[in-house]
Amino acid sequence: MSIVVPMYNEEEVFPLLRAELERFMGEVLSEMEIILVNDGSSDKTIEKIVAWAEEDRRIKVIHLSRNFGHQLAATAGLDYATGDAVVLIDADLQDPLPAVHQMVERYQEGYDVVYGQREARQGESVFKRATAWAFYRLMRALVYKGLPPDSGDFRLVSRQCLDGLKSMRELHRFLRGMVAWVGYPQYALKYQRRARAAGTTKYPMRKMLALAWIAATSFSTVPLHCSMILGLLVGLLGIEEAIRALLASLLGWYTVPGWTSLMIVTSIIGSALLFSIGIVGQYVGKLYEQAKDRPIYLVSRTFNIATPTVTRTTSESPDIATHL
Ligand code: UDP
Ligand code: MG
Repeated sequence: MSIVVPMYNEEEVFPLLRAELERFMGEVLSEMEIILVNDGSSDKTIEKIVAWAEEDRRIKVIHLSRNFGHQLAATAGLDYATGDAVVLIDADLQDPLPAVHQMVERYQEGYDVVYGQREARQGESVFKRATAWAFYRLMRALVYKGLPPDSGDFRLVSRQCLDGLKSMRELHRFLRGMVAWVGYPQYALKYQRRARAAGTTKYPMRKMLALAWIAATSFSTVPLHCSMILGLLVGLLGIEEAIRALLASLLGWYTVPGWTSLMIVTSIIGSALLFSIGIVGQYVGKLYEQAKDRPIYLVSRTFNIATPTVTRTTSESPDIATHL
């Protein structure tokens, strides 16, 4: 079993995390590995986790070359995980480790994915709870109906599901949606989300909005359809205005020619065009970045990992020469 923990400036919570993980490892009978991904922290996180890795060979460390964000840091950890079952948790202990035992039970019953579904969220502002609530409802209604509500990235995935996930090398990642997309039997495990054990949130409003935007644009083409529907509606309005202008001139309704309606129509069409072009631009921008085929993250060094399982994390095939 592998546990993956992405960490960004988590030195304050580290002692608590270590104690919890050590207790957890004492409770399970299976072979364990813990993969700590340092996502370009600027504090003492890396020193602390490397010191732990030196004491305990089950602790593996991936040190990314800079801050790549939670979704890519988690991806790096999942890529290096070797367990039959892999669990992704946050470093701040908001995801309770005792719930992992229940996840393992479900896994043994044959579920490939057991995701945590928040029944309650403690220690989070009303604003965060309200926006999160609205986000999941909107995403399900408009973007991807397979997305489970109120579920973060706290989950257990089987080797089979993880292999499927690993084959998706897209740059703009919304992991929880991607896991839902991969499929296989999935189980929603209800749990109480606790407050952060120590430190402050590493997901400010800016990063949350960025994730929501990635989720909406990288997961479906619904926003593109929106611009088409908007274009259609504005087009209908234009036709209505044209008929009205024609009748007005034929039947002599107005003494002043329809300057106002002309202005309205031009401005509405203008804004609709700009809006649609803006949305299309978002997709073109993403295609461009994907076409560059950059590695989606770079590892600067690893600890206690013999041979990297992934050297270059793109969709390109491995070095052909080695197969000849
Ligand atoms: N995190 C990360 N890189 C980032 C931001 C966050 O690896 O750029 C990690 C962070 O260390 C934590 C997890 O992602 O383990 C979730 O972050 P946080 O608890 O701050 O988010 P919140 O629970 O407030 O939404
Ligand atoms: Mg948190």
